[in-house]
Amino acid sequence: MSITTGPPPVQTGGFAGALTRAVNQRLDAATLRLARRRLHVKALIIGVWYIASIAGVVLASGWLEGLLAGTSLSLAFAAVGFNIQHDANHNAFFASSSKRLSRANRIVGWSMFVIGADANRWLYRHNTLHHGSPNVVGTDSDINLGPLARLAPFQRRYFWHRYQHLYLWPLYCFTVLEIMFNDLATLVGASRHSRNARSRLSDASVAILTKVVFVALMVGLPALTHPFWVVAVGSVAIMFAVGFLLGVVFQSAHIVEGAEFAEAGSRPPYQWHEWQVRSSLDFSHGSGPLSRLFRWYAGGLDHQTEHHLFPRVPHTAYPLIAPVVSAVCEDYGIPRHVQPSFHAAVASHFRHLRAMGRPPSSTNSA
Ligand SMILES: [Zn+2]
Repeated sequence: MSITTGPPPVQTGGFAGALTRAVNQRLDAATLRLARRRLHVKALIIGVWYIASIAGVVLASGWLEGLLAGTSLSLAFAAVGFNIQHDANHNAFFASSSKRLSRANRIVGWSMFVIGADANRWLYRHNTLHHGSPNVVGTDSDINLGPLARLAPFQRRYFWHRYQHLYLWPLYCFTVLEIMFNDLATLVGASRHSRNARSRLSDASVAILTKVVFVALMVGLPALTHPFWVVAVGSVAIMFAVGFLLGVVFQSAHIVEGAEFAEAGSRPPYQWHEWQVRSSLDFSHGSGPLSRLFRWYAGGLDHQTEHHLFPRVPHTAYPLIAPVVSAVCEDYGIPRHVQPSFHAAVASHFRHLRAMGRPPSSTNSA
């Protein structure tokens, strides 16, 4: 499968054409404008929440206050990842109709830096590799955990995978640390191969400077008012909590029962739009207060199919186009995967991990 940076050019025929027409009809200019306004208000609320949580951590005067502020910071930290940088790095935060607005998207996408990751590397790893080839072994970095886990049927199985549905959960806590480590490792690898000294220096400066700012925020500021050991324990706990949240939400949207996978080096036997549907899972479409609260928090990751089909549409519009996507999928007989709630999606992820870890003979009877 060729790696692409986004949806292919708009098609007029077949499933892709019907889908594009139906969604364009649902999302007129006024509806899109309103969805973007809601996204901007939401980003502002999350930005204030993030800053207030850091202030709370710094000013906390007892263990209970510290615990509450730390929990709030963990949730706000992940919310920036789910709701602000994700849309902006997909050029969805502002309508990318001009160079100026595309640049504005890139600037908001730098919010990735305040949560410790490198926006430039995210663009390649997430937008190019993951979105271009979801669930394709060897290309989609989200399904490659090396020998630690077997997430797809075409990956090699080791005997310890028998227990991966149990041991993988605590390992998700390392997601943020893995992203940070990977940023630096990629930088070192790239600097060895790049002949352009200026871009090498600029990449290294951005990566190092942003990590320094992040450590200053997470460790330096709280260390002004708290003993160092408290700050160290608190920072590690926050990184683990955020890593767990990011890992579980992102993985439960693709690595689940029913989602399809493709072999390394092969082209999925479906056209681009159809493959996005077959390899993604939506969850939490309900209208109950818990579903709505989770939807607000998860930043459209619960509407993963809509996100993969239309990554440049702000996530606040996904619930509007979900019924349209369902109807067109039904017309074309394309299986669309939806779980009623987040915990149902997590349970499906658990069962998928268990099935992938079993020896081939017992997998068939699962
Ligand atoms: Zn995305």
